[in-house]
Amino acid sequence: MMRLRKLEELPFDNTYARLPEAFYARVEPTPLSNPVLVSFNPDAAALLDLDPDEAERPEFAGVFGGRLLIPGSEPVAMIYSGHQFGIYAGQLGDGRAILLGEVTNSRGDKWDLHLKGAGQTPFSRDGDGRAVLRSAIREYLCGEAMHGLGIPTTRSLCIVAGDEAVLRERPEVGAMLLRMAPTHVRFGSFQAFFARRQPEHVKQLADYVIARFYPHLAAADRYPRFFHEVAVRTAQLIAKWQAVGWAHGVMNSDNMSIVGLTLDYGPYGFLDAYDPSFICNHSDHQGRYSFRNQPDIGYFNLRCLGQALSSLVTPQQEQEGLAAYEAAQAAHYLELMRAKLGLQESKPEDGALLNDLLALMAANQVDYTIFFRALGGFKSGRDERNEALRDFFVDRDGFDRWAVRYRDRLRGEAGPDEDRRARMHRINPKYILRNYLAQTAIERARQKDYSEIDRLRQLLADPFTEQPEMDAYAAPPPDWGRQILVSCSS
Ligand code: AMP
Ligand code: MG
Repeated sequence: MMRLRKLEELPFDNTYARLPEAFYARVEPTPLSNPVLVSFNPDAAALLDLDPDEAERPEFAGVFGGRLLIPGSEPVAMIYSGHQFGIYAGQLGDGRAILLGEVTNSRGDKWDLHLKGAGQTPFSRDGDGRAVLRSAIREYLCGEAMHGLGIPTTRSLCIVAGDEAVLRERPEVGAMLLRMAPTHVRFGSFQAFFARRQPEHVKQLADYVIARFYPHLAAADRYPRFFHEVAVRTAQLIAKWQAVGWAHGVMNSDNMSIVGLTLDYGPYGFLDAYDPSFICNHSDHQGRYSFRNQPDIGYFNLRCLGQALSSLVTPQQEQEGLAAYEAAQAAHYLELMRAKLGLQESKPEDGALLNDLLALMAANQVDYTIFFRALGGFKSGRDERNEALRDFFVDRDGFDRWAVRYRDRLRGEAGPDEDRRARMHRINPKYILRNYLAQTAIERARQKDYSEIDRLRQLLADPFTEQPEMDAYAAPPPDWGRQILVSCSS
């Protein structure tokens, strides 16, 4: 039996802080005043073998509000740089987040404890080092929602709020988020040392990441294989975003995880009506990070990483990695979309069947999540008219024509409609974190009612199971909810 641990018993093994000083700056958190625990996530605590009762201790908000350090913690701000909106931004680094240390659980999994909003660091530039409660709630909930959807992501243990205002467009409540990931090394971490012309540090960081997260690659040709695997993991991650209808919003290379998980939740958004040109970030005037651009931006970011690794990877090997990215992204996306359509076999016409459906959905502004969930109920009998589904479309004839092709395609596969429905319901979520749901939780939290955060966290941890009492949370957004502008401000 695994024993649950107290905060003081968390076993730290701070591998990153043992790298040479060139990789980080040692810095301590700047505490929030009068810290209050806003939300605690027992699912994330379980990943650390942390006793959930620890959240009841008065010290808990002190620890994750930056006032107390847990024994074994060695806080550092990590150095990185990156391309922001296509332009190399020079040195960035953790300007408001501090890596407290790394904890290993009884299963041998390592977790970074990363405190976001922990105050200024040597990399804060002009920033205040703080995060606001609004953005902490958005990051906390979306990480758990993505995990529930089966998408690799950072997780979050808790949110702690303080009572000093943090100035953004207006004064807001300041907060800290305890974020967890196997590592916070990013593409931009390598770029920082490439830009400084320090190939020995690029190599040292690559060896560090390979030894811990790609140990099967430990051989002479490890660097090109590493680039290749990062490319494939990134391709699969972005294919998952596309399939679930999610846009990151700020796919700068400093927000791209070296282990292929979703990192840094800012102005992200789930699609409501299917719209490939969807831009979730109000500050993204050119639409660089629009929904449909994400696969290409992944490619761009891998080129940035490839350049940073150019002392270890030949141009030819880089090209091979990039080609693997493109192939893996297309293949994984089609595989996921085929599953969303309930198809088990692969047929050459599937791509056209899918694309024609998506084009119809875009033209008719059909809600992406609600429609795919409903499509599970498609009846493949000859005389079925699938009235409820055709009602999603203004162009009913267009849907009918597509439905005949879909029906014929389904009849080529084995198994009854009910089996397909069950299969599709395990893949097409009922509940997603639409902006208006997060917004409701944020507005209640401003009134010091934190219950909606917990309600959403629990709902979204299990997005595929019907929870009839929560039906209202599966509704399309109300008019006010479509107009929420989400910017980079956080
Ligand atoms: P982000 O847009 O959150 O990915 O942040 C990009 C860069 O800006 C990172 O280096 C952050 O650490 C830094 N940054 C963002 N907000 C702040 C802030 N309020 N204070 C200091 N640094 C910040
Ligand atoms: Mg970032």
